Amino acid sequence: MGEDLKYDVVIVGLGPAGSSLAYLLKDAGLRVLGVEVAGPGRVWGKPCGDAIGKQHFIEAGLPFPQGDALMQVVDAIDIYSPSEKVKIRLQEPGGGFMIDRTKYGLSLLKEAEKKGVEVMLETHVLTPIIESGKLVGVKAKRKSDGKTLNIKANIVVDATGSGAAVKRKLPDTWPVKEPLKETDSAVAFRKIIEVDYDIEEPSVLRIYINEKIAPGGYWWFFPKGKRIANVGLGVQRGRGYPHPRLLYEKYLATRDEVGRVVRVLNEAGALLPTRRPANTLVWDNFISIGDNGFTVNPLHGGGMGYAMVAAKYASEVIVRSHETGDFTAKGLWDMNLKYMRGLGAKQAGLDILRMYLQTLTNEEVEWAMKTGLATVDNVIETSLTGELRGVNLSLLEKAKVLASLLKRPTKLVQLMIVGEYMSRVKALYKKYPESPEELPRWVDSVESLYKEFKKRIGIDW
Ligand SMILES: Cc1cc2nc3c(=O)[nH]c(=O)nc-3n(C[C@H](O)[C@H](O)[C@H](O)COP(=O)(O)OP(=O)(O)OC[C@H]3O[C@@H](n4cnc5c(N)ncnc54)[C@H](O)[C@@H]3O)c2cc1C
Repeated sequence: MGEDLKYDVVIVGLGPAGSSLAYLLKDAGLRVLGVEVAGPGRVWGKPCGDAIGKQHFIEAGLPFPQGDALMQVVDAIDIYSPSEKVKIRLQEPGGGFMIDRTKYGLSLLKEAEKKGVEVMLETHVLTPIIESGKLVGVKAKRKSDGKTLNIKANIVVDATGSGAAVKRKLPDTWPVKEPLKETDSAVAFRKIIEVDYDIEEPSVLRIYINEKIAPGGYWWFFPKGKRIANVGLGVQRGRGYPHPRLLYEKYLATRDEVGRVVRVLNEAGALLPTRRPANTLVWDNFISIGDNGFTVNPLHGGGMGYAMVAAKYASEVIVRSHETGDFTAKGLWDMNLKYMRGLGAKQAGLDILRMYLQTLTNEEVEWAMKTGLATVDNVIETSLTGELRGVNLSLLEKAKVLASLLKRPTKLVQLMIVGEYMSRVKALYKKYPESPEELPRWVDSVESLYKEFKKRIGIDW
């Protein structure tokens, strides 16, 4: 029952992942439909820190935010130790932006629509349509007329974030249906506040590491101009920590720079994955991108840039598959090869580091930042490459660091282990299997490696 529609591609969810894909497919000559449950005022409406590095736009081939969509240019990030006495300033390579997500998202959709991409807002995708074991489209309900739509397409893209509207209803036997473990995710809460004073250095983002305030995560103060700031915190899930909203009111709202509020423009929380990418981002007639495919930076939870890059690879594989007519997992596999051997390898290395950092106490973080173990170069290099090259002989040559490390032999050993596993995991991702048949064996190797790492570090979650 309902109205039947036919496209080449249906993109479900028009957040950063889905609308980037809609934009990138605008010149492909394909019949593309983007479906989004939210209305125009809520496009890209998921709560976010709103910070994004410039290089992601370049990598993905997307326009820089301009006009009202660009709220603040970012030049640097200050990372504060738990006592806030030690500060590391990271000069963002290439810089970054604080954006108005809805305005930027709408601008992408407008450009896509100009070139013939169809955009259907306020339309709720309910379920995948599977006929004789094959994914052929999605069933949706349009709010304006209450109509049920049977949207058929060669490829269904799930870009609905962690809600996974399509993915979670696929057959259990499909490897792409991979659940998100609680401890591999965070719940984050943020307010956008207008303050009654001029923010010092609005082009500098501030990140604070403090396990009491943000257990298993961090809290942030990101200026969006001189008098507006996005302030929030992320907390690891599955370990019994309080909800970040409570922690915000208890620890952040009581601080001078956060508490001097003229008005709260928006407040909300949401879940975010903080792990390596899903084992596969494609299956027969199906592609998963953005939070849906766990394409995020596990260290800081930033997912907009990774979603955009995943969208770029998806657009390439979608065009290719329409040339070959092969929409099977094999026909779409190039998406995995491109993502996993590049950004995915870095992501997997950072996932190892993320788990380790989540075991550290405030006192240990303070020590690492104070002794210079976590230096600007280390942090930048590690976040760019997903490797911990800092823990090698050249670093140990630094007498101060060596002396303090020798006073903490367990930490020295652990850091060597972390560095070793970051490299090993990365190497495994660089050898991501050439075809779907080889996937189960590769997944076994990845899982054993992570298990082995956790055992050696003593992580039991
Ligand atoms: C508090 C917080 C702070 C963050 N800070 C940052 C940051 O500063 N920088 C950064 O890069 N990342 C940050 N992130 C992560 C970032 O927000 C996400 O990685 C990013 O939004 C993922 O984009 P996406 O398109 O994959 O998913 P989403 O943004 O979740 O978009 C999914 C879309 O699908 C739609 N949808 C869902 N279900 C359906 C359905 N059934 N039918 C139709 N449409 C549907 C939703 O309405 C939504 O528009 C933060 C996250 C949180 C929670």
